[in-house]
Amino acid sequence: MSVSPVPFDGNPIAPETECFLGETHRLLIGGEWVEGSGELETRDPATGLVLARFQTGGAAEVDRAVKAARAAFEGPWGRMTVAERTALLHKLARVMDANATLLTELDVIDNGMPRFIAGLTTANCVEMIDYYAGAVMRIEGTTIAPPRHIAAETEALTYTLREPVGVAGQIVPWNVPLSTAILKLAPALAAGCTVVMKPSEETPLSALALGGMILEAGIPAGVVNIVNGVGAEAGQALAEHPGVDKISFTGSTATGKRIIQAALGNLKKVSLELGGKSPVVVMPDADLALAVPGVAMATFFLQGQNCMAGTRIFAHAAIHDELMEGVAAFCKVMTLGHGLDPATTQGPMISDGHAAKVMGYIERARADGVTLIAGGEKLDRPGNFIQPTVFTSCDNAMPLMREEIFGPVMAVQKFESEDVEAIAALANDTPYGLSGSVWTRDLSTAHRLVKRIRAGQVSINCHGAVGTNIPFGGYGQSGWGREFGQEGLDAYLETKAVTARL
Ligand code: NDP
Repeated sequence: MSVSPVPFDGNPIAPETECFLGETHRLLIGGEWVEGSGELETRDPATGLVLARFQTGGAAEVDRAVKAARAAFEGPWGRMTVAERTALLHKLARVMDANATLLTELDVIDNGMPRFIAGLTTANCVEMIDYYAGAVMRIEGTTIAPPRHIAAETEALTYTLREPVGVAGQIVPWNVPLSTAILKLAPALAAGCTVVMKPSEETPLSALALGGMILEAGIPAGVVNIVNGVGAEAGQALAEHPGVDKISFTGSTATGKRIIQAALGNLKKVSLELGGKSPVVVMPDADLALAVPGVAMATFFLQGQNCMAGTRIFAHAAIHDELMEGVAAFCKVMTLGHGLDPATTQGPMISDGHAAKVMGYIERARADGVTLIAGGEKLDRPGNFIQPTVFTSCDNAMPLMREEIFGPVMAVQKFESEDVEAIAALANDTPYGLSGSVWTRDLSTAHRLVKRIRAGQVSINCHGAVGTNIPFGGYGQSGWGREFGQEGLDAYLETKAVTARL
């Protein structure tokens, strides 16, 4: 290692962040900060230095948290009017907004993401809580014609009620910690559910700060419980727990399959947002001034630690070389550094282990002679910084094109055809189906391709167009169900059909 690490690479943090880091970080159960049964440390991935120690729980703490969530569901939260629930959610949004600097800086230093991205995700979280607060009043059933055999005898009324699923377990990964916590929490609370959340052990901090804000907003004890801990212990216990009615998980496809197994015991409802290997199709008539930065950021946004990353680039032969020259030049001006440094556009990998996994893909591709036109190296400095890396001359059989690398690694394949069926067949040659994009000036080609690409989100002349009100989720092995928007709320609601003889 060339130089010794300096805290935050010498960048300042806000006094409230410094104060928060100095606190004791316990578990939030039943409205109280309680002792855990273990302790772990979390590190700044840009320097490798320890940020804080935090307490962890296992099966016993998860059980306590589920009981607290059940008591709140059957008690104060369940009895609250929709107007009261709406007001509390809006209050939480205001408290978070007032603490936006703290929330933003915690995700920067715990995850490594550049500050401008963390600032945006914090603002989106506030928006999302307000959005779902507004949705509480719009939870509606329907009136339906009564069953034939009853209507034949008497006047009758059939209608549906939308009711909360109950206690929701939520397992959150490390790649966009606050944002993923909120996109699960806000619809669950709006629906009237109570929650036990397990953040990732890599990024426990913003969820703990959020816990304090939940208490400050006056959300009743036990409505939200936060149990940090190791996935295989606390996460597994939550997914298996018979007192949990629904589990919502974001993470790898492999762990998603374990969640399904764990949920079998009480057949809890399961929502999964899993991996991706999203196609980016660039047609010969694409506007390259738009496509060059767009394609680059499809891969490199969040240093590639992004489930909807567009990492399989299909470039038409007519524009392939010009597009790649532009992308390689874009890589050269990306600034790798600490997320707190305003100049930084790309941060570090989350951990040593994850960086080793990403470098393993790069080294194997280099050894196999795949053409490297940008990057390919890990920086000789503290932290796990990997250069934005571009391999061309790829084909769909290579691990580079098939597996979710979750790092700043782009794999590019040239194609000759302009037949939308053939192009879509290339794009769809993957077990995943989370996202994708098409770059062309031809509206007809764009919409014909979009229709043929098997993914939950496909964008035209942009990539990863995610938004509070826009459903997001995967086809194939990218998941079950949708988050965000109305469908995100529906995932926490049951439908009860009621028929009355009048
Ligand atoms: P995991 O899927 O293993 O972890 C995601 C979350 O699940 C974390 O909170 C983790 O806890 C928890 N978890 C782990 N094992 C279990 C289990 N048996 N039961 C319940 N919960 C569990 O992802 P990794 O962090 O190991 O990353 C591996 C790969 O997953 C990445 O390289 C990437 O490809 C993919 N990934 C995809 C994400 C997405 O947004 N779709 C997000 C993160 C990763 P803990 O961290 O405490 O172990």
